[in-house]
Amino acid sequence: MADRLSFDSELIARIGWLIKLRWLAVTGTAVGGGVAFLLLPPTAASLPFFAVTAGIALYNLVFALYFRALKRGPAGRLRLHQAIPFAYLQIALDLLALAALVHFTGGVESPMALFFVFHVIIASILLQPGVSYFVAALAVGLLCAVVGLEYGGLIRHYHMALLHVELYRETLYLVVYLGWMTITLVLVAYLTTSIAARLRVRDRELVESNSTCQLRTQELAELNAQLQQIDAERTRFMVLVTHELRAPINTIYSALELALGGYASPEKTRAVLERAQKRASELLDLIRDLLDLAHIREQTIRPEEATPIQVADVLREVVEFMAVEAQSKGLTLEVEVEPALAPVRALPEQIKLVWTNLLSNALKYTAPGGRVRISLRQDARWIIGEVSDTGIGIAPEDLPHVFDEFYRASNARRSSPHGTGVGLAIVQRTIEHWGGTIRVESEVGRGSRFVFSLPRAD
Ligand code: ADP
Repeated sequence: MADRLSFDSELIARIGWLIKLRWLAVTGTAVGGGVAFLLLPPTAASLPFFAVTAGIALYNLVFALYFRALKRGPAGRLRLHQAIPFAYLQIALDLLALAALVHFTGGVESPMALFFVFHVIIASILLQPGVSYFVAALAVGLLCAVVGLEYGGLIRHYHMALLHVELYRETLYLVVYLGWMTITLVLVAYLTTSIAARLRVRDRELVESNSTCQLRTQELAELNAQLQQIDAERTRFMVLVTHELRAPINTIYSALELALGGYASPEKTRAVLERAQKRASELLDLIRDLLDLAHIREQTIRPEEATPIQVADVLREVVEFMAVEAQSKGLTLEVEVEPALAPVRALPEQIKLVWTNLLSNALKYTAPGGRVRISLRQDARWIIGEVSDTGIGIAPEDLPHVFDEFYRASNARRSSPHGTGVGLAIVQRTIEHWGGTIRVESEVGRGSRFVFSLPRAD
C-alpha cells in the first residue's frame, strides 16, 4: 500500500513536471516555427503549423487546470485511478500533435521527427518503464502513417524549403529512413527502460534504508532515555547507601576513639564498645540486605529459564527457622497451606528471602501476645502467599512508600529502632522479577496484611 501511495505521489509530481515541460515545448515550437517561417520562403503550412501549436497550448491549459484539481484531491487509490489515464491521454495527444507538426514541416524531410525520441523518454519516466516500448511503436506507426499517406498522395506533402530535393517519393530513402527511426526509437526505449528500472530500484532502496534509519534512531533515543533513567536511579541509590552506611560507621568510629583515647572509665568504655558492636552488627545486616538487593537487581535468569519449585517447601524451611523467634516473643504463629499446590518458576533462595523478610517484619512489628498468620493457596493462574499480623500497622501516608529502598515509617522507627528499610524493596523486586505482584493493606494499631502472587508454572 505504501508503495502504491508513493507511486501515486511520484506520478502526480511527474505529471506536473510534464505540463511545465510542455509549456516550454510550445514556446520553443512557436518561436522556432516563427523564425523558420520568417527566414524561409513562405509555405501553406505555416497556418496549420501554428494552429497545431495553439492546440497544444490549449490542451495543456486544460491539463494544467485538471492537474490542479487532482493535486488537491485526497491521496490514495482514487487519485491513482485518475492519474494513470490522465498520463496516457497526455502522451497520446502529444504523439498526435507531433505527428501533425512533422507533417506540416515536411513529413519525411522534417527534422521534427527526432522529437519522438523525447516522448519515448518521457513515457518511461512518467509511467512504468516498459510503456516506452509501446510509445516507440505508436511513434513509428504515426510516422509511417504520415510518410505513407504523403507518399501515396492521400494527404498533401508540404515541402521543407531548406531542401532542394523532394524526398517524400524516394522509396528507398523512405524505407531506410523509417528503418533508421524504428531502430533509434526502440533503442531509446530499451535504454530508458533499463535506466529508469535501475533508478527506481535505487529509489526504493533509499526510501527503505531511510525508514530503517528513522526506526533505528527512534530505538536509540528510547534506549538512551532508558539508560539515563537507570543512571539517575543508580546515582540516587548510591547517595542513599552512602548516607545509610555513614551513620553506623560514625558511631563505631567515635566509640573506638573514646575507648582508645582512654577518655572514659572502664565501665563506660565497655558500654561504649558494646554500642559499637551493636552498630557493627546492624551494619552487617545492612550490607547483607544491600548484597541481596544487588543480587536481585543484577538477576539475569529469566522466569522461563528457572526450574519449577514448590513455594510451600521453601515456606516450611523458613517457618521452622523462625518459629523459635515467634515463640520467644510470645506470638502465636499460624500457618495454613493448601495441599497439592502448583509449582512456580523461581530460584528457591530468592523465594526464601521473600518469606524471611515478610515474616521477620511481622514478628518485629507485632507486640508480644499478638498473632501472625501465614497462608498459601492458589487460583487458576496464581500461587498466592499471605502474611498478616496484629501489629503496629502502617499509616496511610506511609503505605505508598514502604516498598521504597531505605524507607521506614516513623511508628516502625519508634517500635523497633533497628531496621534497614531494604527488606520490602528486596521482596517487591524479587516478586516482580518472577512475574508476580505484591500489595499491602494495613491499619494503624490493628495490623498489616501483605499478599503476593506468583504465576503458576503448570
Ligand atoms: P525494615 O523492617 O528494616 O524497616 P522493610 O523494608 O522490611 O524495612 O520495611 C519497610 C517499612 O515498612 C518498615 O520500616 C515499616 O515501616 C513498614 N513495615 C513493613 N512490614 C511491616 C509490618 N508487618 N507491620 C508494620 N509495618 C511494617
